[in-house]
Amino acid sequence: MSDPNPVTRHCGQCGHPFQAVPFVYGGHVLAVPRYCETCIAGNERAEALERERQEAQRLALAWERICPPLYRDTDPSRLECSPGPRETILSWQFGPKGLLAHGPARLGKTRLVYLLLSRLHHLERRKIIALTANAFSHRVSVLFGAGGGRGEAFIDSLTEVPVLFIDDIGKGRLTDRVESEFFHVIETRTAHLRPTLLTTNLNGEALRLMWSADRAEPLLGRFQEFFQTVAVVGQSTGEAI
Ligand SMILES: [Zn+2]
Repeated sequence: MSDPNPVTRHCGQCGHPFQAVPFVYGGHVLAVPRYCETCIAGNERAEALERERQEAQRLALAWERICPPLYRDTDPSRLECSPGPRETILSWQFGPKGLLAHGPARLGKTRLVYLLLSRLHHLERRKIIALTANAFSHRVSVLFGAGGGRGEAFIDSLTEVPVLFIDDIGKGRLTDRVESEFFHVIETRTAHLRPTLLTTNLNGEALRLMWSADRAEPLLGRFQEFFQTVAVVGQSTGEAI
């Protein structure tokens, strides 16, 4: 079957004349294109650009929910942390092994983890929940107190999210409920090979003392087996890990 003969039309968008090849089926003309190829290509490009713009906007808004304003603009080279641990944190790759960054306050542990999360969010498009250990404790107390399954739903969201960051663990006193929910979250996530990122100012021994005896050992065992541990040290202290 030979192609139908083109007819001259004026483009419905730019008005320029163009050769329109009718759509023919069973010998009948079903339709004649209304727009020239230049306009069609331009519209597709404009739609693609619009989709990209909307996606970028969606990512930006989602990032604002993940990352507190204080941590959004960080120049990693200006942090007090020495380069070795800094690179270890920034180059962490998504996988079953989590990350436990420990070391003194004010070396930029939290900022480094948010820089890492920025890559996981913007470039790798992974779903993330980030919160402080204080916020975790607070929400566990409030939501389980409120009842109606809200506490359970909160904990489920933390066990299921692909990437969970809990900042500054081992601070403040833990109620039995908070400790048991924290244990459950770590236990469940490691069992399902989902990585968790943690920071703390404490070392292993201090963490052990934080928790009740029956939970401390299993938790530290999980950390050893399922977490890459990074000792964040200052520039002058060298690069010991
Ligand atoms: Zn046109």
